[in-house]
Amino acid sequence: MSTNIRPLIAGNWKMNGFASESATELKELISRVIEREDTPNCDILICPPALLVRELASLAEGTGVSIGGQDCHANEKGAHTGDLSAEMLKSAGATYVLVGHSERRTDHYESNDIVKAKAEAALRAGLIAVVCVGETLDERESGATLSVITDQVKNSLPQGATAANTVVAYEPVWAIGTGKTPTPEDVAEVHAHIRKDLQTLLSDADGVRLLYGGSVKGSNAQELMSLDHVNGGLVGGASLKAADFWPIVETGL
Ligand code: PEP
Repeated sequence: MSTNIRPLIAGNWKMNGFASESATELKELISRVIEREDTPNCDILICPPALLVRELASLAEGTGVSIGGQDCHANEKGAHTGDLSAEMLKSAGATYVLVGHSERRTDHYESNDIVKAKAEAALRAGLIAVVCVGETLDERESGATLSVITDQVKNSLPQGATAANTVVAYEPVWAIGTGKTPTPEDVAEVHAHIRKDLQTLLSDADGVRLLYGGSVKGSNAQELMSLDHVNGGLVGGASLKAADFWPIVETGL
């Protein structure tokens, strides 16, 4: 991990896990944190399916593991069938929420404007927004990666973003769930680029946590997490089992 920014190691469980198996995995993660005795030097976050937020947040309270949502609506309440507000997540015990994950941008046609409005809703509710950005394979192969990332960062970041309330997760779309990762040089290049973009937008840009996500696993976490401007990870598949997630968490401890 670079600098003295406190890292964040986050797990995104996506649409996986029923109540009992999820509670078992969370308890296993918590007991590993507690057994270490030393207070963790990183923040640890699990974003389960929304139905499980309340139960898992209550299990995790006071343990050093935080619980977050995977998405929220931009409005506080109203006629939005099937949606959840940031305020509802907060009241269920969430402290973070992911916004703009590529699966939301693709499956739900979420534009930068929508992502920005959701991130602003997160801040309004007192949640930390984890704003996800990342290029597609076509964009990478056509040399558009950095301009796509700049566009997403500039247009998805919430008004009022600070290092305390906003995290940026760089997740190349082609690396999510595929087992493929960019080279360390490519990750470092994009993260340095995001830091520069943030410096044009925020007065405390140097303190914003920049996560890398996309096929992070125990075997590649150390190398990825030690790159400049990588302040933690956003992990999908390898976060579902505490035993798989733990070596990744350990890179931040
Ligand atoms: C993700 O869903 O944010 C992700 C990075 O998934 P995976 O680790 O499975 O590639």
